[in-house]
Amino acid sequence: MQTLIDRLFQGERLTQKEFQALVLCEDQGALELLFQRAKERTEEVFGNHVYIRGLIEISSYCKQDCFYCGLRCSNKKAQRYRLSPEVILATCEQGYEMGFRTFVLQGGEDDFYTDEQMCDLIREICLSCPGSAVTLSFGEKSRRSYEAFRKAGASRYLLRHETATAEHFSRLHPPGQRLDSRMEALSALKELGFQVGAGFMVGSPFQTAEHLAADLYFLQEFRPHMVGIGPFIPHTDTPFGKYAAGDSQQTVKMIAITRGILPGALIPATTALATLSQGSRLQALQAGANVVMPNLSPNEVRVKYNLYNNKLSTGTESAQMLEALRNELAGCGRKMDLSRGDSPLWKA
Ligand code: SAH
Repeated sequence: MQTLIDRLFQGERLTQKEFQALVLCEDQGALELLFQRAKERTEEVFGNHVYIRGLIEISSYCKQDCFYCGLRCSNKKAQRYRLSPEVILATCEQGYEMGFRTFVLQGGEDDFYTDEQMCDLIREICLSCPGSAVTLSFGEKSRRSYEAFRKAGASRYLLRHETATAEHFSRLHPPGQRLDSRMEALSALKELGFQVGAGFMVGSPFQTAEHLAADLYFLQEFRPHMVGIGPFIPHTDTPFGKYAAGDSQQTVKMIAITRGILPGALIPATTALATLSQGSRLQALQAGANVVMPNLSPNEVRVKYNLYNNKLSTGTESAQMLEALRNELAGCGRKMDLSRGDSPLWKA
């Protein structure tokens, strides 16, 4: 196992079978070595900085029907809201005052906003919050829409691939949603010059070690700039409501391996991981993660952006607690960094 870990951190390409061996590894000594290497590699590339992104959950309406997600259109119990462009802009401006220089606009796939409205909003954010990066995350759109967003000034797009195995993808999504089109969207985003975020859930229903190995292999080939990895957490009012949550240790392991594959990637310690346990979020930051995304959404809508049970939205999840986060990070030798923090692999 040690040779495999050595080869991973020497930048060698691994086969899917080799990734699978890492995924299945339970040897404590080997895992400690993996986590240590991931921490060292993160420090070599980024120093002790942890980048902070302000997350704004712009809409809980969604036309998609992903079996795992509380925002799925078939969930009639979901509380729906959408923020107006004025409120989104004002929220960015508040965040800007606090020092944020990245705003992540995330939402369900909501066709309410036209591309034109979205582009106007992106331009306004860029004007009002100079020097900031605008990150978008609202699912699959046409290449033409992505291109318009890019031209308007958005520079990053988060679109998790969710699973790189078509058969598994089709067990997480209804027939209308296909892995092919997800992959096409990711390629288009990359070609258009976005910093692109891929990623997946750990412990989603029907997931095997082989699937996780395929996810890692995909990251190695596609080389995204950002990778979001979090545990699956059930949402009561979805078809997966009775499935068990993913394992936080396994999630941290995937993050550490990902750091080996992509030394320059921006990897968040996700809200889902913090929801399982605050300790594992810190553990992720000591094993390859280097981004935290506090919630900037207006308080009254936070509970309505309910992807999974008990989703955190206060505590260090909220921007009001920025100082607490600074202290918490300092406590483990990390420096909170509010700057844009572009990927070292990306040229504007
Ligand atoms: N509509 C956007 C944003 C989705 S929410 C999009 O499709 O990209 C962002 C991420 O939350 C998803 O990509 C998914 O991986 C994750 N997520 C959704 N439901 C979840 C659940 N039940 N447990 C853990 N993560 C979940």
